[in-house]
Amino acid sequence: MKPKPPEPIVPPNIEQLVPYIPGKPIEEVERELGIAGAYKLASNENPVGPSPRALEAVRRALSELHRYPDGSASALRSALATRHGVTVDEIVVGNGSAELIELLVRTFCAPGSEDEVLTGRPSFAIYELEAQAHGVRHVGVPLDAELRYDVSGLLAAASARTKICFIANPNNPTGTYMPAPDLSRLARELPEHVILAVDEAYFEYATAPDYPDSLALRGLRERLLGLRTFSKAYGLAGLRVGYMVGPPKLAQYVQRVRPAFNVNSLAQVAALAAMRDDDQVARSRGVTSEGLAFLKRELGQLGIKVWPTQANFVFVDVGRDARAVYQALLQRGVIVRPIGGPHNLRITAGLPAENERLLRALKEVLSA
Ligand SMILES: *Cc1c(COP(=O)(O)O)cnc(C)c1O
Repeated sequence: MKPKPPEPIVPPNIEQLVPYIPGKPIEEVERELGIAGAYKLASNENPVGPSPRALEAVRRALSELHRYPDGSASALRSALATRHGVTVDEIVVGNGSAELIELLVRTFCAPGSEDEVLTGRPSFAIYELEAQAHGVRHVGVPLDAELRYDVSGLLAAASARTKICFIANPNNPTGTYMPAPDLSRLARELPEHVILAVDEAYFEYATAPDYPDSLALRGLRERLLGLRTFSKAYGLAGLRVGYMVGPPKLAQYVQRVRPAFNVNSLAQVAALAAMRDDDQVARSRGVTSEGLAFLKRELGQLGIKVWPTQANFVFVDVGRDARAVYQALLQRGVIVRPIGGPHNLRITAGLPAENERLLRALKEVLSA
């Protein structure tokens, strides 16, 4: 008889890991319900689509697909360095900024040790998930009643064990943001050893006059880095490109852990082309800002609480079981995201026709 291998097969942190649930893909909903024309306002994607320049760059690069990508992404990194007024060794690219979150945890935290990752709560689920997957503890400091970051609470929770403090600004799923004075205070007052990682996935959408650019605060703190992505305003979520801007001392360690070919060749050329298409970003911002205004006004008239947002989505309280509302919307071919609380939905601002269809579907669901 074969001896039985010992159980469990994985360590407890993996055994207890709950996988990240992404927004449901359109094709899946259509297949499951036997319908056509479903649409998705669930993953904060850019409804305008990718830049035509990015598409052209991808087409041109297709014939070179037998080659490995440039493992150091030098053209993209030097363009990003120029854009941000930093040196190339301050830029690290990732397979989406989600990969950089994983790389930061893997690079700076020791599994099974006392090391901790500090975040707001609720915030982007990937921070906690990557910590757990790596065997690192996570501490979440609740947002305040207005769903703003509690800076004093974060400072009080930071300790000798804290390795990284992830701040999504604007925050996901709430859309709220940490104003400049608060982020400056955090940058100044967090213990020196903590890496402050400011995740600015929705940077291009934020319009509040006191919304801070973390890169402008680099003088306040050595261990400060910014995360940006091509998945949102740049419309390239499917290609997976993000990057971090941080001091060479930190970047160099992340580069050691980063897989050599983590950003593929099509993603590199597309990101480079998209970066130079300011018109496309401006169009995207315009469509989103109109969409947000529509959603705020119309949802408000339905008596739904809508939180102020600096991102490309709204966080709402439907005053009843949000999962049931989500399911009923799915039946009508509208994909949103139940997240952040039992009564909460996150809804991405879409194209005008999509927003109108959502509103009609929601009216039906709420009056049923
Ligand atoms: C969408 C989002 C990202 C982007 O993830 P990618 O991996 O770059 O697609 C990162 N952080 C937050 C808070 C987000 O909402």
